[in-house]
Amino acid sequence: MSDSESSIERLSASAVKYVAGGIAGLVVATTTTLLRHFARPVYESIRNEVPKDSLIQVVYLLFLVCLLLCVWIRLLYRERRKPLADRFEFDDYGGYYVDPRNGRAVCPSCLAEGKVVNMMDVSGNKMCNACKTACRGKTTAKSDIGN
Ligand SMILES: [Zn+2]
Repeated sequence: MSDSESSIERLSASAVKYVAGGIAGLVVATTTTLLRHFARPVYESIRNEVPKDSLIQVVYLLFLVCLLLCVWIRLLYRERRKPLADRFEFDDYGGYYVDPRNGRAVCPSCLAEGKVVNMMDVSGNKMCNACKTACRGKTTAKSDIGN
């Protein structure tokens, strides 16, 4: 039973690889065709409009814009791969996360599911309205230590 399941998983994984490879090949072929037919007219029109001595500046500017776009895409990709909990500070005593921008408590259970839900203050303790998770707050900490 487990052998057939693992072989099915391996088969579907290899099928995904073949489909992704096919799509990548299609993208490369389409890009090559588009560049062959449209790159030269675009380059010709830019060359005709821009004075000859400033053409290298336009090419440099376009290169710079492409470079900045690549850096921006890389930053967005890194931000997307970063775990959601890394954006918040963890309160060791209360067991909940704190948003450093506004200091509000964030529910740890909801954060584990990928949702950011602020917690309400219930007589010093923190409580989530979405999942009813309760965490002890700072103000009751002193009374807890005293008891
Ligand atoms: Zn919650």
